[in-house]
Amino acid sequence: MAQLSDDCFAFGGALLPLAEAQARIAGLYACVATTEPVTLADAVGRVLAADAIATIDLPPQTNSAVDGYAVYFDDLARDAPTLLPVDGRTAAGQAPGTPLPRGRARRIFTGAVMPPGPDTVMMQEDCEITGAGVVVQPGIRRGANRREAGEDVPRGAVALPAGRRLMPPDIGLIAALGHHQVDVRQALKVAVFSTGDELTDPPAPLTPGHVYDANRFMLSALLHRLGARVADGGILPDEPDATRDALADAAAWADLVITSGGVSTGEEDHVRAAIEAAGTLTFWRVAIKPGRPVALGAIGRTPLLGLPGNPVAALITFTAIGRPLFDRLSGAIYTPPPRYGIASGFAYKKKAGRREYVRVQIGADGVARRYPKDGAGVLTSLTESDALMELPEDMTALSAGEVAPCIPMGLLHG
Ligand code: AMP
Ligand code: MG
Repeated sequence: MAQLSDDCFAFGGALLPLAEAQARIAGLYACVATTEPVTLADAVGRVLAADAIATIDLPPQTNSAVDGYAVYFDDLARDAPTLLPVDGRTAAGQAPGTPLPRGRARRIFTGAVMPPGPDTVMMQEDCEITGAGVVVQPGIRRGANRREAGEDVPRGAVALPAGRRLMPPDIGLIAALGHHQVDVRQALKVAVFSTGDELTDPPAPLTPGHVYDANRFMLSALLHRLGARVADGGILPDEPDATRDALADAAAWADLVITSGGVSTGEEDHVRAAIEAAGTLTFWRVAIKPGRPVALGAIGRTPLLGLPGNPVAALITFTAIGRPLFDRLSGAIYTPPPRYGIASGFAYKKKAGRREYVRVQIGADGVARRYPKDGAGVLTSLTESDALMELPEDMTALSAGEVAPCIPMGLLHG
């Protein structure tokens, strides 16, 4: 009897390893976004266009990290309390004041500039005030509780590199360096299409044989998070000429065209043929699961990414291939999401030569358990699992208890 297959990888020749697909993207595409200034209020998520170089020291002056007393370390007894008369006071925002004479302490507050002379600050909690002055306990180290000018970022250093996608702490850093606006890359214009005669846009009534379009909304949301200007291309019918014409029209004005569905080998799959008819195809089969049929090509100079239709496969291929492509075009540094080693609570067998992503839930015991419904179309396997366990190409068996790299689900999206 013929061997029947429940494995969508069973047919159709060589698959491109993911690393090779990413290398091709890096080789073929470069930043297409021009530069614009934005104020810091609008900068979150934007891509820094040039290195942010510190034109001042950060902090600008050496200052106290605590409320307390500035002292000379060499005035302190090594193993007995020391009494020092108090000489003046400096609060945050004031000029540094006069040099502190030896054998004295100066009252100082957090953020106040260190007066000339003393090298150490005693926390007020470790001091006792007497009529004769302040008594400080032994045991502090030289330089304690003092923040050096430039210890965070020295003047002239690169505070943030070009290509950095600005996160809230980055915006704090840019402000701390004295800027209220930055040059960023312009948002990419991305056209997003779904394909499939079975798709209906919510909230229209669902007729027999139809499902609601999930991917267009999910992919648009992913792109919004990345700062794209998303143009909704709607749903394309499973029809070759309409597919080709719509993609060619979008490629004429968009920086990137993304579709989902219709990239497999069935006779209702028209995206690959449309790319070949209107432009050039770079690859269309990548060795990852879920997600194998994923097409990259270009119409004119505009890259076109054809993601698979199953929503889980669409999300995973967007992360693995769409994200590096998007970052490349945006002028952003592509950083793969971090992987954390987690003990597997299950054994797993896989074929060599493809990378697999297994949806897992991570228990309070720190053990990853496989999400029970693992179909590539099961959306709740994305909403209810905690991470993707990544099993590399050369692995064929994972044993229970083995530590495997896992990507937290939330890090796929940001
Ligand atoms: P395809 O890749 O076109 O063969 O589609 C594979 C599966 O994904 C089919 O079950 C489709 O109905 C489903 N699918 C395709 N596109 C979408 C979409 N935009 N939203 C939800 N499911 C989809
Ligand atoms: Mg389809």
